Amino acid sequence: MPITVRGWVRTKRESKSLSFIEVSDGSTLRNLQVVIDLASAPPGLAAELTRATTGSAVEVSGELAESPGKNQPIELRASALAVVGEAPPESYPLQKKRHSYEFLREIAHLRPRTNTFGAVTRVRNALAFAIHTFFQERGFLWIHTPIITGSDAEGAGEMFQVTTLPLDNPPLAEGGIDYAQDFFGKRTSLTVSGQLEAEIYALALRDVYTFGPTFRAENSNTTRHLAEFWMVEPEMAFCDIEGNMETAEQFIKFILSRLLESCPEEMEFFDKWIQPGITATVRAVVESSFHRITYTEAVERLTRSGVAFEYPVHWGVDLQSEHEKYLTEKLFGGPVIVTDYPKEIKAFYMKMNEDDRTVRGMDVLVPRLGEIIGGSEREADHERLKGRIAELGLRESDYWWYLDLRRYGSAPHAGFGLGFERLIQYVTGMQNIRDVIPFPRAVGSADF
Ligand code: ATP
Ligand code: MN
Repeated sequence: MPITVRGWVRTKRESKSLSFIEVSDGSTLRNLQVVIDLASAPPGLAAELTRATTGSAVEVSGELAESPGKNQPIELRASALAVVGEAPPESYPLQKKRHSYEFLREIAHLRPRTNTFGAVTRVRNALAFAIHTFFQERGFLWIHTPIITGSDAEGAGEMFQVTTLPLDNPPLAEGGIDYAQDFFGKRTSLTVSGQLEAEIYALALRDVYTFGPTFRAENSNTTRHLAEFWMVEPEMAFCDIEGNMETAEQFIKFILSRLLESCPEEMEFFDKWIQPGITATVRAVVESSFHRITYTEAVERLTRSGVAFEYPVHWGVDLQSEHEKYLTEKLFGGPVIVTDYPKEIKAFYMKMNEDDRTVRGMDVLVPRLGEIIGGSEREADHERLKGRIAELGLRESDYWWYLDLRRYGSAPHAGFGLGFERLIQYVTGMQNIRDVIPFPRAVGSADF
């Protein structure tokens, strides 16, 4: 039975009387080998064949057959070939050699045609699907929190402003720009997190999650920071930090295990070409049981370790990645959840412990990466939250609705956040976060 395939030519080579074309349609890392017997080919096919160069789009018909070659189980014996779109070899930028990631970023319109970016894209899709599956199977509602925010509560500094005011000549009022004349009648920005809005919905519908883009005007040119990235933020009502830890552990194991099931070829590829041992690392997390330790205990263990850390540890400092590595790789040999951090190094909304010094925050640390998830039980008590806002010198009026949630039908609730691109970096071993999102936006670069 004849079949027709459509895709792009990866390579072409000729032997005595046969021509071989590797065709890819992006569905898998394995190309389809197309074999053309020039002796028996219909007239015109040879001419078409010369136009079928690397990168061209083709439509091939023929019979599928077992391949005598040892590199592929099957091949397509072509009886017809049409070049749908040429890719002139003198200018097509993606030739057979391995290109640098820097170069590929400059041609982000063509890089999905490479093995690496095809594999990253399929992994990204599989993880996104697994994330939705995890929550949907457990009755969580997906909440679309706003991308443009007028809330002053999200934390200043790193936000992108949204405005239609003329930047070269903005209307002025006493004390600066007159935002009353701006599009929304006030100053607005792109969101840095959907958590606070997710809390609103959790305190009405119980289990919810956000999964969408967030924005940070990070002026840091690192391999771990984007200006536009995706975040996953579940929020659960009638849930304390214990339930939060349980969900986070189940969540990580579920999505990683789905990844191993649905992308075995891609994982093999990353293991071979990008990060040797990555599959074993991911599998070990799936099969592990996460250790739990308080920040105070962790600091004690780190101090007692006798290791000369670059950043010395003492109670009150934030854990650095060398400390996180010691905990996960040396001390426990697996994922660790650290809880009950000093209030000074965590956000205002985390629930205060009885000791008045620590809060019910939790970070999930995994070997090789360190922090993969950050979360907490939220302060559900109106007076205590008000106290924290005052203590930190924040303006109560900016948090009026957030405080209101604690005045009316407040309930214990908790949640966590996962940076989606960091997760993809972790499972693929890709060094630069700009190579795990289709069109990276980072400081100084927003092409495409
Ligand atoms: P970092 O210390 O790495 O800058 P953060 O403390 O600013 O992270 P959070 O505010 O806790 O991060 O954000 C939640 C998650 O979002 C982080 O754990 C991380 O996975 C991810 N994240 C934060 N900033 C970025 C960024 N600029 N680009 C991509 N992912 C990010
Ligand atoms: Mn940051």
